[in-house]
Amino acid sequence: MKVTQISEHIWKCSIWIVIPISVWIVKSDRGLTLVDAGIPWMARGVLKQMKALNLPLERIVLTHGHSDHTGSIKKILDVHQVPVYAHELELPYMEGELPYPGRKKAQMSVEPGIAQPLDMQSIGGLVPYLTPGHSPGHVAFYHEQDQVLLAGDLFTSKRGQLQQPMAMFTADMEQAVGSGAIVAQLKPKLVSICHGGEVQLPHQQYEAYKSRWMDSQTGQSNVHS
Ligand SMILES: [Zn+2]
Ligand SMILES: [Zn+2]
Repeated sequence: MKVTQISEHIWKCSIWIVIPISVWIVKSDRGLTLVDAGIPWMARGVLKQMKALNLPLERIVLTHGHSDHTGSIKKILDVHQVPVYAHELELPYMEGELPYPGRKKAQMSVEPGIAQPLDMQSIGGLVPYLTPGHSPGHVAFYHEQDQVLLAGDLFTSKRGQLQQPMAMFTADMEQAVGSGAIVAQLKPKLVSICHGGEVQLPHQQYEAYKSRWMDSQTGQSNVHS
Protein backbone atom coordinates (compact mmCIF):
# COMPACT_ATOMS: atom_id res chain seq x y z
CA MET A 1 0.00 0.00 0.00
CA LYS A 2 1.19 3.46 -0.83
CA VAL A 3 0.85 6.08 1.91
CA THR A 4 1.15 9.75 0.99
CA GLN A 5 0.81 12.67 3.37
CA ILE A 6 -1.24 15.11 1.28
CA SER A 7 -1.49 17.90 3.88
CA GLU A 8 -0.54 18.63 7.47
CA HIS A 9 -3.30 16.45 8.95
CA ILE A 10 -4.16 14.00 6.17
CA TRP A 11 -2.62 10.76 4.92
CA LYS A 12 -3.94 9.03 1.82
CA CYS A 13 -3.52 5.25 1.63
CA SER A 14 -3.96 3.68 -1.80
CA ILE A 15 -3.69 0.35 -3.53
CA TRP A 16 -4.08 -0.40 -7.23
CA ILE A 17 -6.50 -3.00 -8.53
CA VAL A 18 -6.94 -1.91 -12.15
CA ILE A 19 -7.75 1.52 -10.68
CA PRO A 20 -6.46 3.11 -7.47
CA ILE A 21 -8.60 2.63 -4.39
CA SER A 22 -7.91 4.99 -1.51
CA VAL A 23 -8.85 5.84 2.06
CA TRP A 24 -7.77 8.78 4.19
CA ILE A 25 -6.51 8.96 7.76
CA VAL A 26 -7.13 12.36 9.29
CA LYS A 27 -5.31 13.42 12.42
CA SER A 28 -6.60 15.83 15.04
CA ASP A 29 -5.16 16.69 18.48
CA ARG A 30 -7.15 13.93 20.09
CA GLY A 31 -7.18 11.11 17.61
CA LEU A 32 -7.73 9.79 14.13
CA THR A 33 -10.68 9.66 11.77
CA LEU A 34 -10.69 7.12 8.97
CA VAL A 35 -12.53 8.39 5.90
CA ASP A 36 -13.75 5.39 3.88
CA ALA A 37 -12.56 1.86 4.35
CA GLY A 38 -11.54 0.60 0.89
CA ILE A 39 -11.47 -3.11 0.23
CA PRO A 40 -10.72 -5.90 2.74
CA TRP A 41 -7.03 -6.23 1.73
CA MET A 42 -6.40 -2.68 2.85
CA ALA A 43 -7.13 -3.31 6.53
CA ARG A 44 -3.61 -4.40 7.47
CA GLY A 45 -1.87 -1.47 5.85
CA VAL A 46 -4.38 1.03 7.23
CA LEU A 47 -4.04 -0.38 10.76
CA LYS A 48 -0.25 -0.21 10.45
CA GLN A 49 -0.34 3.43 9.34
CA MET A 50 -2.72 4.36 12.17
CA LYS A 51 -0.35 2.72 14.64
CA ALA A 52 2.57 4.70 13.22
CA LEU A 53 0.63 7.92 13.83
CA ASN A 54 0.38 6.89 17.48
CA LEU A 55 -3.10 8.25 18.18
CA PRO A 56 -6.33 6.35 18.86
CA LEU A 57 -8.84 5.80 16.08
CA GLU A 58 -11.99 7.70 17.07
CA ARG A 59 -14.36 6.91 14.23
CA ILE A 60 -14.87 5.79 10.66
CA VAL A 61 -16.85 8.08 8.36
CA LEU A 62 -18.00 7.03 4.89
CA THR A 63 -18.35 9.17 1.79
CA HIS A 64 -20.85 6.54 0.61
CA GLY A 65 -21.64 2.88 0.89
CA HIS A 66 -20.26 1.24 -2.27
CA SER A 67 -18.35 -1.91 -1.44
CA ASP A 68 -14.97 -0.45 -2.49
CA HIS A 69 -15.42 2.11 0.33
CA THR A 70 -16.60 -0.21 3.09
CA GLY A 71 -14.58 -3.41 2.63
CA SER A 72 -12.19 -3.23 5.57
CA ILE A 73 -14.68 -1.94 8.16
CA LYS A 74 -15.11 -5.32 9.84
CA LYS A 75 -11.39 -6.01 10.16
CA ILE A 76 -10.76 -2.54 11.55
CA LEU A 77 -13.63 -2.84 14.05
CA ASP A 78 -12.12 -6.13 15.23
CA VAL A 79 -9.16 -4.09 16.47
CA HIS A 80 -10.77 -0.72 17.30
CA GLN A 81 -14.37 -0.56 18.52
CA VAL A 82 -15.37 2.81 17.09
CA PRO A 83 -18.58 4.23 15.64
CA VAL A 84 -19.12 4.18 11.87
CA TYR A 85 -21.06 7.01 10.25
CA ALA A 86 -22.68 7.48 6.84
CA HIS A 87 -25.33 9.89 5.63
CA GLU A 88 -28.78 8.69 6.62
CA LEU A 89 -29.90 8.77 2.96
CA GLU A 90 -27.18 6.23 2.15
CA LEU A 91 -28.01 3.72 4.88
CA PRO A 92 -30.90 1.82 3.22
CA TYR A 93 -28.78 1.25 0.08
CA MET A 94 -25.61 0.10 1.77
CA GLU A 95 -27.55 -2.05 4.20
CA GLY A 96 -29.19 -3.88 1.30
CA GLU A 97 -32.71 -2.65 1.94
CA LEU A 98 -32.94 -0.86 -1.44
CA PRO A 99 -31.03 -1.31 -4.71
CA TYR A 100 -28.85 1.67 -5.58
CA PRO A 101 -30.62 3.68 -8.31
CA GLY A 102 -29.96 2.08 -11.68
CA ARG A 103 -29.04 -1.28 -10.20
CA LYS A 104 -31.31 -4.28 -10.34
CA LYS A 105 -30.58 -5.88 -7.03
CA ALA A 106 -30.18 -4.58 -3.52
CA GLN A 107 -26.79 -5.49 -2.13
CA MET A 108 -25.53 -5.28 1.41
CA SER A 109 -22.07 -3.74 1.76
CA VAL A 110 -22.37 -3.02 5.50
CA GLU A 111 -24.40 -5.14 7.89
CA PRO A 112 -27.36 -3.27 9.36
CA GLY A 113 -26.63 -1.88 12.80
CA ILE A 114 -22.94 -1.16 12.18
CA ALA A 115 -23.27 2.31 10.67
CA GLN A 116 -25.25 5.16 12.17
CA PRO A 117 -26.51 8.39 10.62
CA LEU A 118 -23.85 11.04 10.27
CA ASP A 119 -24.54 14.24 12.16
CA MET A 120 -23.76 16.93 9.57
CA GLN A 121 -21.56 18.88 12.00
CA SER A 122 -17.80 19.24 12.05
CA ILE A 123 -16.23 15.96 13.17
CA GLY A 124 -12.52 15.34 13.74
CA GLY A 125 -11.68 18.58 11.90
CA LEU A 126 -13.88 17.63 8.92
CA VAL A 127 -17.09 19.34 7.82
CA PRO A 128 -19.45 17.03 5.92
CA TYR A 129 -21.32 18.24 2.83
CA LEU A 130 -24.06 16.24 1.15
CA THR A 131 -23.01 15.83 -2.52
CA PRO A 132 -25.53 13.38 -4.04
CA GLY A 133 -25.47 11.99 -7.55
CA HIS A 134 -22.81 9.29 -7.57
CA SER A 135 -24.97 7.78 -4.83
CA PRO A 136 -28.03 9.21 -3.07
CA GLY A 137 -26.29 9.97 0.23
CA HIS A 138 -22.78 10.75 -1.00
CA VAL A 139 -20.85 13.08 1.31
CA ALA A 140 -17.64 15.04 0.80
CA PHE A 141 -15.59 16.04 3.85
CA TYR A 142 -13.86 19.40 4.01
CA HIS A 143 -10.81 19.81 6.22
CA GLU A 144 -11.04 23.55 6.82
CA GLN A 145 -7.64 23.98 8.42
CA ASP A 146 -5.76 22.22 5.60
CA GLN A 147 -8.22 23.44 2.93
CA VAL A 148 -8.48 19.95 1.51
CA LEU A 149 -11.74 18.43 0.27
CA LEU A 150 -11.96 14.64 0.59
CA ALA A 151 -14.39 14.00 -2.23
CA GLY A 152 -14.78 10.21 -2.36
CA ASP A 153 -16.31 9.39 -5.75
CA LEU A 154 -17.69 12.86 -6.51
CA PHE A 155 -15.00 13.08 -9.23
CA THR A 156 -12.27 11.08 -10.83
CA SER A 157 -9.19 12.79 -12.25
CA LYS A 158 -6.74 12.52 -15.09
CA ARG A 159 -3.39 14.33 -15.11
CA GLY A 160 -4.54 16.94 -12.64
CA GLN A 161 -7.86 17.50 -14.39
CA LEU A 162 -11.30 16.96 -12.86
CA GLN A 163 -13.24 14.17 -14.53
CA GLN A 164 -16.71 12.77 -14.04
CA PRO A 165 -17.21 9.88 -11.63
CA MET A 166 -17.33 6.44 -13.23
CA ALA A 167 -20.57 6.35 -15.21
CA MET A 168 -21.24 2.68 -14.61
CA PHE A 169 -21.40 3.16 -10.85
CA THR A 170 -23.01 6.60 -10.79
CA ALA A 171 -26.71 6.80 -9.97
CA ASP A 172 -27.40 10.25 -11.45
CA MET A 173 -24.60 11.90 -13.43
CA GLU A 174 -26.36 15.22 -13.88
CA GLN A 175 -26.85 15.50 -10.14
CA ALA A 176 -23.25 14.42 -9.52
CA VAL A 177 -21.90 17.09 -11.87
CA GLY A 178 -24.10 19.65 -10.10
CA SER A 179 -22.87 18.51 -6.68
CA GLY A 180 -19.33 19.10 -7.92
CA ALA A 181 -20.09 22.83 -7.49
CA ILE A 182 -18.99 22.30 -3.89
CA VAL A 183 -15.42 23.03 -5.12
CA ALA A 184 -16.58 26.40 -6.52
CA GLN A 185 -18.25 27.14 -3.19
CA LEU A 186 -15.41 26.10 -0.87
CA LYS A 187 -12.42 26.84 -3.11
CA PRO A 188 -10.18 24.22 -1.52
CA LYS A 189 -6.45 24.18 -2.23
CA LEU A 190 -6.73 20.52 -3.07
CA VAL A 191 -9.42 17.99 -3.82
CA SER A 192 -8.48 14.41 -3.06
CA ILE A 193 -10.51 11.60 -4.61
CA CYS A 194 -10.71 7.87 -4.09
CA HIS A 195 -9.93 6.59 -7.59
CA GLY A 196 -7.36 9.07 -8.87
CA GLY A 197 -4.73 11.66 -8.10
CA GLU A 198 -5.25 14.98 -6.34
CA VAL A 199 -6.40 18.09 -8.18
CA GLN A 200 -5.01 21.48 -7.16
CA LEU A 201 -7.32 24.51 -6.95
CA PRO A 202 -10.25 22.57 -8.41
CA HIS A 203 -12.57 25.62 -8.36
CA GLN A 204 -10.56 27.03 -11.27
CA GLN A 205 -11.65 24.03 -13.35
CA TYR A 206 -15.22 23.58 -12.29
CA GLU A 207 -16.85 25.69 -15.00
CA ALA A 208 -14.90 23.90 -17.72
CA TYR A 209 -15.75 20.55 -16.16
CA LYS A 210 -19.44 21.42 -16.10
CA SER A 211 -19.37 22.75 -19.69
CA ARG A 212 -17.75 19.55 -20.95
CA TRP A 213 -20.62 17.64 -19.38
CA MET A 214 -23.27 19.94 -20.82
CA ASP A 215 -21.69 19.81 -24.27
CA SER A 216 -21.63 16.04 -24.11
CA GLN A 217 -25.36 16.12 -23.37
CA THR A 218 -26.31 18.38 -26.25
CA GLY A 219 -23.86 16.77 -28.66
CA GLN A 220 -22.32 20.14 -29.42
CA SER A 221 -18.59 20.49 -29.67
CA ASN A 222 -16.88 22.86 -27.33
CA VAL A 223 -16.20 26.02 -29.33
CA HIS A 224 -14.59 27.96 -26.49
CA SER A 225 -10.86 27.65 -25.93
ZN1 LIG B 1 -18.75 4.76 -5.47
ZN1 LIG C 1 -15.52 4.03 -5.42
